Amino acid sequence: MTDKTISLQTSLIHNDYTPPAGFGAFPPAIHHASTVLFPNVQAMRSGDWREKNAYTYGLHGTPTTFTLEARLADIEGGKHCLLAPSGLAAISMVDFALLKTGDDILLPDNIYNPNRVLGNWLQESMGITARYYDPLIGAGIAQLIQPNTKLIWAEAPGSVSMEVPDLPAICAAAKARGVIVALDNTWSAGIAVRAFDLGVDIVIQALTKYQSGGADLLMGAVIVRDAALHDTLSLSHMRLGYGVGADDAYLVMRGLPTLKLRFDAHDAGARQVATWLKGRPEIAKVLHPAFADCPGHEHWKRDFTGAGGLFSVLFDARYTEEQTDRFVDALKLFQIGYSWGGPNSLCVPYRMQASRRNWGEQGTLVRFNVGLEDPTDLIADIEQALARL
Ligand SMILES: *Cc1c(COP(=O)(O)O)cnc(C)c1O
Repeated sequence: MTDKTISLQTSLIHNDYTPPAGFGAFPPAIHHASTVLFPNVQAMRSGDWREKNAYTYGLHGTPTTFTLEARLADIEGGKHCLLAPSGLAAISMVDFALLKTGDDILLPDNIYNPNRVLGNWLQESMGITARYYDPLIGAGIAQLIQPNTKLIWAEAPGSVSMEVPDLPAICAAAKARGVIVALDNTWSAGIAVRAFDLGVDIVIQALTKYQSGGADLLMGAVIVRDAALHDTLSLSHMRLGYGVGADDAYLVMRGLPTLKLRFDAHDAGARQVATWLKGRPEIAKVLHPAFADCPGHEHWKRDFTGAGGLFSVLFDARYTEEQTDRFVDALKLFQIGYSWGGPNSLCVPYRMQASRRNWGEQGTLVRFNVGLEDPTDLIADIEQALARL
């Protein structure tokens, strides 16, 4: 565990990695292995792949992946971490660890869409019910919890429509009924909110985003404080065969010392661009959790210390989708594509009615991911594209 008296930024650089004897260097070694050799049959029979000091097979972990897991658990304020080949694999690891036929799960209506697709699949094929709740429901979630409800997913904020939930209220209601809360904490990179302190049981991260920082790999993590919960998740991890490549694990570690600096730079750039957009007549609303009119802003203000590079806007309803598509096509520095956390700015228009209940008639939602370019250039890019509406 990293020393708690030092700041997050320092702890991202100073950790308790011990290099091999006689080879003092900062980077951890990249260990490639499928087979892991045992000194004798006795050692082979007694090895427990769940123990982070016992290596049994490459799929279950190497010194490289165990080092990354320890660092991620530390950043998030958790104790245990399991890596998965993608953020979505991390989500599915949680579902398959905790659910069986007859169970019920609750998901916020603004959940990352592939998580919703997975929830619907569990319902259609596995006899599990997946129900959706208003992301701003707060303590009202107590009314939705049934005796067979096993898991509540949360996302803070929803990564397209940006509502920030009241996590302590949801967690308190869940805890009172013995229901586990899993948070998709990708938006904050695990550094802008202390999710476990708010009562969350499980955190998933799409390391694909800020932790990678390079838009060049896919990986996920499941982090917990509770040892028994970690054991349950480890079984799911093992049964599903969720190994990750050593080189990718190394690339994530290489980016961690700059994680907070990059996150803060995305944050500053995004607020500058979002503030400029707020003053534009073409934009009906800017959905940025740090802005007072964002749904759930008061929760962001209470629970978060930063915001990263992601926010959305609603165009004025007088513009047709054809016009807003023309705007997105006219952008040059913002390119069209999913994901975030890399150096390049991205932009995606969403058809909200297709994924949300009761979204209603509103102008087109366009999501911006502000990269690490000079925000002045990004604003000029948006300005020239707005002229094409
Ligand atoms: C990207 C993302 C994921 C999934 O990550 P992948 O590595 O692309 O599978 C999960 N949740 C959120 C909020 C994301 O943005």
